[in-house]
Amino acid sequence: MTAAFREEIRSWLEKHLSGEFAHARGLGGPGREHEGHEVRLAWERLLGAAGWTCLGWPGEHGGREASLAEQVVFHEEYARAQAPARVGHIGEGLIGPTVIDYGTEEQKRRFLPPIRLGEELWCQGYSEPEAGSDLANVQTRARLEGGEWVITGQKVWTSLAHVADWCFALCRTEPGSARHRGLSYLLIPMDQPGVEVRPIVQLTGTSEFNEVFFDGARTAAANILGAPGDGWRVAMATLGYERGASTLGQQIGFQREFDRVVETARRTGAAEDPVLRDRLVRSWLELRIMRLNALRTMTSLAAGEPGPEVSIAKLYWSEWHRRLGELAQAAQGRAGLVADGPPYELNDLQRLYLFSRADTIYAGSSEIQRNIIAERTLGLPKA
Ligand SMILES: Cc1cc2nc3c(=O)[nH]c(=O)nc-3n(C[C@H](O)[C@H](O)[C@H](O)COP(=O)(O)OP(=O)(O)OC[C@H]3O[C@@H](n4cnc5c(N)ncnc54)[C@H](O)[C@@H]3O)c2cc1C
Repeated sequence: MTAAFREEIRSWLEKHLSGEFAHARGLGGPGREHEGHEVRLAWERLLGAAGWTCLGWPGEHGGREASLAEQVVFHEEYARAQAPARVGHIGEGLIGPTVIDYGTEEQKRRFLPPIRLGEELWCQGYSEPEAGSDLANVQTRARLEGGEWVITGQKVWTSLAHVADWCFALCRTEPGSARHRGLSYLLIPMDQPGVEVRPIVQLTGTSEFNEVFFDGARTAAANILGAPGDGWRVAMATLGYERGASTLGQQIGFQREFDRVVETARRTGAAEDPVLRDRLVRSWLELRIMRLNALRTMTSLAAGEPGPEVSIAKLYWSEWHRRLGELAQAAQGRAGLVADGPPYELNDLQRLYLFSRADTIYAGSSEIQRNIIAERTLGLPKA
């Protein structure tokens, strides 16, 4: 059953990753989101039109109702074919499932089709200067005025806000409220005078996340998911979708990066160093362990019981990937310390080293994952 499905995806990708899309292979992804946005958007629309987005969504919303196993197969084949990194992943993976679970019928009709067809892109407006790990400290305010929400405040680290059409944002809608209470989950159009997006330049020299300033930004009163004041519950549900089937596809990309590090270590002679060889072997073994862990996570997700596995998986892959970045630098030797050309041209391994520093921060930092494992799994006292 999944073998036929695998074959169908494989031959579709082979056939369509040609012509204008042949050059899109390998473009984009974490740390490389600046690459080929336009061609990747066209690719997203092609995927959508052919029914290869939102595979797990219910049929009534245009999904294929694909099983978890089928979704894993899709992500594996997608990574194997080096298809371009998706530009619609925040819509498909985060806000789409939240609208399915918490949206009204009208919201489902309005927001789901453009996500599925790659016609509207989304960004996630949670973090603020004083609300990151401590998300309940959100200060962005919104009040109802003349049938619209009027929003004022600042978000930060907002990935892909510069290309997004919509932002789902956690806002304080009850004046004087604190912590988890009085928050609402608003859907805000980005293209309006009250929204200013300022790119943040990263260590890699490129910008994929931004500061977003709301200064009297407006959205219709109906553009709220869940009830006013119930935003925390909806926001936590969204975070719960930030896991799952793409993990095994991600590991195919990791294997490719690992192979490149080994090739480089051979070429530069760094592989002669027994200490480096030992680190490479360890890294290879840990990648195998990661796969087994991911399969275990899939099993518990399929059983509808996401538990601490999700935090264990995030902690494990992000720490591993950061160490791989360090290995990538060691494999290049001294040449890895110098950029290729002006003003800031990084090779793939240098980019891997610099961007993998972010892996242990986004989607819950390593310290926060350890707190979750300690408190919820090991039953240790609260931090
Ligand atoms: C590449 C990237 C993309 C991102 N994209 C988005 C996005 O699209 N939308 C969005 O809303 N946010 C996004 N973020 C923000 C991300 O969610 C936050 O950076 C993250 O939650 C950490 O918050 P912070 O940066 O405010 O750090 P802080 O919360 O201030 O943490 C600083 C340090 O203190 C540690 N720490 C904090 N609290 C505790 C604790 N209780 N116990 C132990 N240690 C603790 C942290 O682990 C960290 O090391 C992105 C971040 C990155 C790096």
